[in-house]
Amino acid sequence: MARQFFIGGNFKMNGSIESIKKIVENLNNAKLDPNAEVVIAPPALYLLLTREHLRKGLEVAAQNVYDKPNGAFTGEISAEQLKDSGITWTILGHSERRTILQEDDAFVASKTKAAIDGGLSVILCCGESLEEREAGTTVDVVTKQLKAVADKVKDWSKIVVAYEPIWAIGTGKVATTEQAQEVHAAIREWLKKEVSSEAAEKTRILYGGSVNEKNCGELAKQADIDGFLVGGASLKPAFVDIINANS
Ligand code: PEP
Repeated sequence: MARQFFIGGNFKMNGSIESIKKIVENLNNAKLDPNAEVVIAPPALYLLLTREHLRKGLEVAAQNVYDKPNGAFTGEISAEQLKDSGITWTILGHSERRTILQEDDAFVASKTKAAIDGGLSVILCCGESLEEREAGTTVDVVTKQLKAVADKVKDWSKIVVAYEPIWAIGTGKVATTEQAQEVHAAIREWLKKEVSSEAAEKTRILYGGSVNEKNCGELAKQADIDGFLVGGASLKPAFVDIINANS
């Protein structure tokens, strides 16, 4: 079964009204692979601006969501509020939130469930540190992160998994095609055993970590790489070439 190629752009805490309008304009005017699903994630402050200006067919994601629908949670945003504002996706479990903001597997799982219950789709990030890779525990680390979600969410049709080795994020050090494919295949195998054969067949597994217009072509050819979550390069015009990597 062919899985639709998916490209997410994670702007992180970058951009301004002017620069985000330029990125959106560039995407609106570009010739994009009609078979690719494209979702961009600006900082929360610019979500509405992005939704307002971005052409139909391209979607907008938050970079985070809280795990309650409303209430006294200063500074947080719920899935329901995002949905109400036309935002259909959220990134969750990004390594920067896991490490800098100390989000653990259980909290990421709780937020994933809340996002789906609130009507959003989720780009669920997982990935190992350099020490964990060198210790040979990559697959254990990644599947433990995913298991926390599987304990709370049975239907994975609203989840896209992003495998992002921490040592490759923002470092310019991209995983080799073999390293990425090996982990993607292990994640698919794990989905088959722990979730369902259907989830294993249908779930898109993205690679993230220093993807650029030069390395995306080879990565996209791998059997279990169904697209990319792109950080730094999603702010540049070359993001269009990454979107078109599979065309
Ligand atoms: C990311 O932050 O999800 C990411 C993959 O970043 P970069 O592409 O800059 O490595």
